[in-house]
Amino acid sequence: MSALDESPQAAARGDVRDLLRSTAEQAADFLADGHARPVAAVASLDELRARLVTPLADEAVGAEAVIEQLVRDTRGGLLGTTGPRFFGWVIGGTLPAALAADWLTSTWDQNAALYACAPAEAVIEEACRDWIVDLLGLGERTSMALLTGCQMAHFTALAAARGALLRRQGWDVESDGLFGAPPIRILATRHRHITIDRAVRMLGLGTRAIVEVDADDRGRLDPASLETLLSAEGGPTIVVAQAGDLNTGFYDPLDETVALARRHDAWVHVDGAFGLWAAASPRHRHLLRGFEGADSWATDGHKWLNVPYDCGIALVADPDAHRAAMSSRASSYLVYAEGARDQIDWNPEWSRRGRGVALYAALRQLGRHGVADLVDRTCRLAARLTSEIGALPGAELLSPALINQGLVRFLDPAGDHDRRTDAVIQAIQDEGTAWFGGTTWNGIRAMRISVSGWNTTDHDVDLTVAAVERVLGACA
Ligand SMILES: *Cc1c(COP(=O)(O)O)cnc(C)c1O
Repeated sequence: MSALDESPQAAARGDVRDLLRSTAEQAADFLADGHARPVAAVASLDELRARLVTPLADEAVGAEAVIEQLVRDTRGGLLGTTGPRFFGWVIGGTLPAALAADWLTSTWDQNAALYACAPAEAVIEEACRDWIVDLLGLGERTSMALLTGCQMAHFTALAAARGALLRRQGWDVESDGLFGAPPIRILATRHRHITIDRAVRMLGLGTRAIVEVDADDRGRLDPASLETLLSAEGGPTIVVAQAGDLNTGFYDPLDETVALARRHDAWVHVDGAFGLWAAASPRHRHLLRGFEGADSWATDGHKWLNVPYDCGIALVADPDAHRAAMSSRASSYLVYAEGARDQIDWNPEWSRRGRGVALYAALRQLGRHGVADLVDRTCRLAARLTSEIGALPGAELLSPALINQGLVRFLDPAGDHDRRTDAVIQAIQDEGTAWFGGTTWNGIRAMRISVSGWNTTDHDVDLTVAAVERVLGACA
């Protein structure tokens, strides 16, 4: 045995296999227990702090002990989002292949900034682009970036929009910045996701540049209002449309929106954080009619597609506009790839995780039919949950599940339905079978029903409706 093999590093290499095995057991236990544990987090903030926020020790701790303590100290502080009865926000679980691929991503620990430092991962992102463009039926030239979420997908796509619109005005924002540039306005309804406003802020356009388009009571953009605003002299314009409102799942009339924007030379960006995936289902694709005519789209892998956090996806019809906004080729120490994909040309990050690997695994596991089936199945289960909970005594159906999102509320005999709705949501969380969150929709409190997990079944719907019925009976 050489001196090298007797080093502590060599010993640690031997231990790694055991550590990964025992961690895999912990992970599998976590997933299996998910069916028995309360879906809500049951540990209090004080408890979690007492366990986790301790002084940093001077001495090292063995890797196995670190993991054991981590599992112990987070107990009760994790929501059951990977389980089959988590219906809060729009939070998907994790497909098995995607979870395992995500482990490998950390194991490989590549810097997926450049082809040169992560060749396989660069090619995996190429494949992800091809598959997603194909699944969604977008133009062949569409470019893609994989980001932390829809927030950064908006930022990336709207940076492309900003550059392209100003270039048409003879202004080079990449070199000259925004001081003195023609102002850009953003047309969007008040139902837009708050991440649009933050993207607009980060891009230096300012939220005052957002002009609100009217919407109907389901949150759908009103084309007549859009036409009026587009016809008024307003300079370079971005129209932000929604494919799947976060409360109702309803879609803006994307065909009319795109047609109107085209006539006025505006850029159309579609926020389809979850709803874009309905385009991959022959049964639901009609909801997005005309969406492929837009200029950019933002969606998530970590919501409806059940890729682990974090995975956002920006898609841009004009790859030149996308690359002009993000490309980073100034440095002398980098090796740029000829003909291969360098993610730094499409992403705002520099060093980054191989975010495509888990997405690639999820798409492979599902296949084209699996994605369509995931969409159709979760829509069907959401329709069941929404109509069956909405039909319980003391409940009211507010918005039926057009896709995988529905809204109900709970009625108070004394008339304070908002208070009653929040109280029932809390009682359902405390009961532990299922988890729903609240929202304020058209000025009233409602319970959101979102079925986004790949592993929810009809049996979970039965268990959940029964639990809600029990809760309503107990807190009548
Ligand atoms: C969740 C969501 C976002 C933000 O996505 P992140 O991945 O959390 O950044 C944007 N728009 C809509 C409609 C959403 O539902």
